[in-house]
Formats: sequence, C-alpha cells, structure tokens
Amino acid sequence: MDLMGLCSICGRPGALHTCSLCGRLVCDNCFDSVYNVCNICKTGKQ
Ligand SMILES: [Zn+2]
Ligand SMILES: [Zn+2]
Repeated sequence: MDLMGLCSICGRPGALHTCSLCGRLVCDNCFDSVYNVCNICKTGKQ
C-alpha cells in the first residue's frame, strides 16, 4: 500500500487532489474540482 497516496476521506489509494480549505489529500471521488475542496468541506460537515 502506498501510504502517501491514500485518500483522507475514504481511505482508498490514488489520492490526487489537495483540498484548498483543509489540506486533506483526497481521491477523485471525494473531491469537487469546481470548488477545489474536498467533499467534507463542500458539505460543511467536519
Ligand atoms: Zn476518497
Ligand atoms: Zn477539505
């Protein structure tokens, strides 16, 4: 397992994006490329 590439939200490998608000490294499924934030920041739930 590549620990550096794990999504901070779902835990799957292949995280490619960094949230501009919280700095989480997240995968494509957990990232909103329109707002440049992760799904947690997008929904406002911490
Ligand atoms: Zn994910
Ligand atoms: Zn975030």
